[in-house]
Amino acid sequence: MKKRRPLFWQLYFNYLFLTVIVLGTMTTLTYFGLQRFHLEQTKKKLLSYASISESQLKNKFLRREKNFLQDHASLLGQSTHTRMTYLSATGDVLADSKRSPSEMDSHKNRPEWQSALKTGYGEAVRFSKTLGQTLIYVAVRVSGPGKIYGVIRAAQPLESIRATSMNIFIQLGIASLVVLILVSTFSIILSRKFSNPLRDLRLRVFNLTHGDLSSRMDLENISGPKELFHLARSFNNMADELEARIDRMNQFEQMRKDFVANVSHELRTPLTSIGGFIETLQEGEVSEEEQKKFYQIISRQTHRLTAIVNDLLMLSKIEKKQEDKSITFTQTPLAPVLNSAIEVLKPKAKKSEIEIQLHCDESIQLLMEPQLLEQAIVNLVDNAIKYSESHSQIKVTVTSQENSIRIDVSDEGVGIPEEHLPRIFERFYRVDKARSRKVGGTGLGLSIVKHIAILHKGTASIRSKINEGTTITLVLPKARLKNQ
Ligand code: ADP
Repeated sequence: MKKRRPLFWQLYFNYLFLTVIVLGTMTTLTYFGLQRFHLEQTKKKLLSYASISESQLKNKFLRREKNFLQDHASLLGQSTHTRMTYLSATGDVLADSKRSPSEMDSHKNRPEWQSALKTGYGEAVRFSKTLGQTLIYVAVRVSGPGKIYGVIRAAQPLESIRATSMNIFIQLGIASLVVLILVSTFSIILSRKFSNPLRDLRLRVFNLTHGDLSSRMDLENISGPKELFHLARSFNNMADELEARIDRMNQFEQMRKDFVANVSHELRTPLTSIGGFIETLQEGEVSEEEQKKFYQIISRQTHRLTAIVNDLLMLSKIEKKQEDKSITFTQTPLAPVLNSAIEVLKPKAKKSEIEIQLHCDESIQLLMEPQLLEQAIVNLVDNAIKYSESHSQIKVTVTSQENSIRIDVSDEGVGIPEEHLPRIFERFYRVDKARSRKVGGTGLGLSIVKHIAILHKGTASIRSKINEGTTITLVLPKARLKNQ
């Protein structure tokens, strides 16, 4: 695998490398530039010394006043830290500020002398045998009308230029070093700024994958660029979503467990009862009258079991439709569906002399699955009968609202204490277990109603007052957008 370095080091070394390259190039270019500049300056200076002497000494050259020339060379040489040499047109040394001319050989072969003689100007950078060091030479011709008198040469050691340049070079080097230290510190800070949030993010991803769902980035104090901030925010969103999903899954799992426990519990009671009575009957020592009573109990419990199983099947059927989205809604007139539900329960109502009224405009239509909606109304009216005294009234009232149809099923029955209302639509939730059992309730009726309402993208709600009555309201949307 490719070897990967941490972001911090990558950024840090890149910054540093770039800085070293920039500073190095700058220093070197400056050094050579300065050296050239100094050389040019020195040549100009030497030329001016030579030119001044040339205009002053023309006659002295003509007359070969060697002593004068020697004094002049010495004086000028000393005051300008320059080696002045006056040469004849034949290359002999007439005067020199550093050495005695008598000790010096002919300068015929010196390139600056040759060039000056020919063109009026000559220059050279070369090693001086006389002084044993490298010098910069500038030479000018001394001439009168139609005649050359000689050559004046001014020279300075190259070493002095090198020394000045070196001096500047060292200063530049020190400045570069300071800049390098500054850049290095700065790039450590900058690299940290980039790499710290990334390291932090990695740690939090690690925590998240190891089960710490509360792991989040601190968006307020995040350093680095915008992209990093976005990345951190995306991470937080992802963590939120993950946490919510896991919460939902846990909740779902808990609900499933509770449901299985509830179902088992609900089934066990009638089954135990049935088992007990059958055993007693098998033992045989039961009077005929008791036998009849026991068979009745067994029959009732069997009905109860059947009712529970039927309701459970109904619930799972609705849930399956919900999950598969396999439901087929049709635009159906509402009144016949409600009528049919009421017809089912008329005999039961009649027994308690309870009157059922239906108020529904015949023209009202609804997008629905008629069988399911009928089942919901059956459950509601059935409850109304179950929890009402005889000689009371039940009303099924339909109101057309702007975007929805509202169905109220109200009775004048026992009512429900307020504290039970929030949980009344839960599976197996009953206010009075004994009464529910007595009237053949399963505790699933309202839960089925709620699921049917949700399947129709509607809601189910309840209002109730003890001893005054209960109203359950379904609100179902008239039209729905496609795919809803
Ligand atoms: P059950 O089969 O026990 O009636 P439901 O889910 O239909 O179960 O109703 C849950 C509980 O709500 C009932 O046990 C009952 O206590 C209460 N309840 C439902 N409808 C009415 C009503 N119309 N009047 C009074 N109480 C009701």
